[in-house]
Amino acid sequence: MIKLAVFGNPIEHSLSPDIHAQFAQQTGLTVEYKKILAPINGFSESANHFINEGASGFNVTVPFKLDAFNFASKLTLNAKMAGAVNTIKIKDKVIIGENTDGIGLVNDLVSNLKIDLKDKVVLILGAGGATQGILLPILEKSPKRVMIANRTASKAKKLQQDFLSYGKTCGFGLEKIKHDPVDIIINATSASLDGKMPDIAGGCANGAICYDLMYGKQTPFMDWAKANNAAMIVDGLGMLVEQAASSFEFWTGKKPNTQPVISNLRR
Ligand code: NDP
Repeated sequence: MIKLAVFGNPIEHSLSPDIHAQFAQQTGLTVEYKKILAPINGFSESANHFINEGASGFNVTVPFKLDAFNFASKLTLNAKMAGAVNTIKIKDKVIIGENTDGIGLVNDLVSNLKIDLKDKVVLILGAGGATQGILLPILEKSPKRVMIANRTASKAKKLQQDFLSYGKTCGFGLEKIKHDPVDIIINATSASLDGKMPDIAGGCANGAICYDLMYGKQTPFMDWAKANNAAMIVDGLGMLVEQAASSFEFWTGKKPNTQPVISNLRR
């Protein structure tokens, strides 16, 4: 029995147990995957308790990704650069922290949507935790340039500095977005959660692939993309399933087939 879980607060809404149950069925592994509601100031205690019960690993969601980063005794490069951990694996009593969010986005773009990132111009809206998590996997695909535009310009500039050695990046305020066409626009702000559109008066969606990390509903960003002749409009459900698949593979060594799981969730 492989004991897994997802830690969060709140956690009731999580789709992860359903996704991992489908992966377990596909791969023929016996997996128990549960939701654990950890107290806001009690992540480490909850996590240690689960490890002592014989856990093989677990996922971590809001608001514990930074706690998990500090909890891990060893970090992958992805986790280091993301500054956050969404996946913990226990191996030979070592607590290894990984971040599969960015890998999930890139796998959705490349494998599911057949979008080659090489030499593409990518505009990312937002400079929060999600953007920090997706930057390295995107830059590893050799885009021509990654522009990070954020409401608070200083955060975008900081990310530009932090990721300079991994590829061509630039960071600036949302108001500096030019009308020049880009290949891919990724909405990694949390504006969609509030039913809002980031203020990108100068932005141009014409012919671009527009990807909102949010999933589960039509967002103002997706409406804007449609009204501005985007070439393709995508939500973050594929990323959710792909990051889960990457975690599953990290724990078990088995790569699940994500397509049927994405289709099931869409239904
Ligand atoms: P953070 O709180 O770390 O960052 C929020 C970002 O959004 C900041 O850059 C903030 O700007 C910006 N922002 C918030 N409101 C507005 C607004 N009204 N206009 C313009 N910018 C705004 O959040 P995360 O980075 O962790 O998450 C971002 C989104 O990504 C969420 O919707 C989350 O659900 C989604 N996500 C999806 C995943 C998936 O699997 N599909 C995985 C991970 C995240 P400022 O710095 O100026 O405050």
